[in-house]
Amino acid sequence: MRFTGHCRCGQLALEIEAAARPPLYACHCLNCQRWSGSAFGLHMLCVASAVQLTGEPSTYTHEHEGQTSTQYACGVCHTRMFNETTAAPGMRVVRAGVLEGAAHLTPVAHIWTRRKQQWVTLPDGVAQWQETPTAEAFAAALMG
Ligand SMILES: [Zn+2]
Ligand SMILES: [Zn+2]
Repeated sequence: MRFTGHCRCGQLALEIEAAARPPLYACHCLNCQRWSGSAFGLHMLCVASAVQLTGEPSTYTHEHEGQTSTQYACGVCHTRMFNETTAAPGMRVVRAGVLEGAAHLTPVAHIWTRRKQQWVTLPDGVAQWQETPTAEAFAAALMG
């Protein structure tokens, strides 16, 4: 299965090559709302080696709740493409909105629904947590 994407200006291109569709989830936390300038962050959890980036990224590293997160963005238009975090070693969390066909992808889990914007209605039966789930529960929902 192959996904392609690019930043707003096109300087960075991204390609994901995976046997199955990597799991997609939405995070409704305030940091994701602020960082995306939108209602939630849409994250595709990929094995790092499956994600190839073409072009020169600009990186930003910060500490969050004892974890180190590095963001990969376009240095020209500042679109964020993915991040790596010590909370999920060996993975790259792709900002799914940069992908071609993202409108046809449906999240399998929603986290931080405590901060969800009121107009956002979640479908029945989808996995959801008020805050951050345990790693075990989250993995079970994503691999479901
Ligand atoms: Zn760009
Ligand atoms: Zn978040």
